[in-house]
Amino acid sequence: MAADTPAPRADAPPSRPRPHTRRQPWILTYHSVTDPGDDPYGITVSPDRLDEQLSWLRGRRLRGVGVSELLRAGAGRRGLVGLTFDDGYADFLDEALPVLRRHGFRATVFVLPGRPGGVNEWDPLGPRKPLLTHEDVRRVAAAGMEVGSHGLCHQDLTALTDEELRRETRHSRELIGDLTGSLPEGFCYPYGYVDRRVADAARTAGYGYACALAPGPLLSRFALPRTHISQADRGVRLWAKDLRHGLRQVTSPAAGHRSAGRARAGGPR
Ligand SMILES: [Zn+2]
Repeated sequence: MAADTPAPRADAPPSRPRPHTRRQPWILTYHSVTDPGDDPYGITVSPDRLDEQLSWLRGRRLRGVGVSELLRAGAGRRGLVGLTFDDGYADFLDEALPVLRRHGFRATVFVLPGRPGGVNEWDPLGPRKPLLTHEDVRRVAAAGMEVGSHGLCHQDLTALTDEELRRETRHSRELIGDLTGSLPEGFCYPYGYVDRRVADAARTAGYGYACALAPGPLLSRFALPRTHISQADRGVRLWAKDLRHGLRQVTSPAAGHRSAGRARAGGPR
């Protein structure tokens, strides 16, 4: 035992693990919030289940915030959890936002300014889900939510040329800035696919952070790990995911470690 570690007192209660207090912030990944009846990719959570999941967080004295707010809190982020909604589905405004407001939570919505009012054509199995229009993106920002970029059109950025990559990162940032009146701080890699070149492009485009899913050795402020949340996630499963996130911090190399490898996460988009 280290000299500066006090010996446990015989009458002290056993210490309980509190994974969300660990070094890397805990960030949850949502996509669509609506009826999950037809959901081959497991990206849809019902409004009732979202309500239940946010109640679970509150029961653990965690408050949901956007990722910028989470990162700004620094050491004070102990009671915070990042909430993210990828792809900019139109159901965010009607289904997710009322639930977030009921809990007093905020979130980051990663939108696709190259597909205003479009659909999720990148998912071959469907179902087709409408995306936010430009006016909707303004409403999301006006509601106090953080708007971040998911690129222009939801492409695998690791497969693009340097010029295409620059457009997906830099031009999407400019378009969102024009819509909301402020340049976005956050970027999110489509499919969670990121390699060193892509992470460097996000940084060069002016973002302050970027979200991945399971970035492995690329783990850094520009490849933040996140936990996918599904309709099946309730008490014990959420607890297990929180614990797994905490353990991942123990097994991951130091932030900023350089690697040429690409982080490919299975599952969600
Ligand atoms: Zn996506």
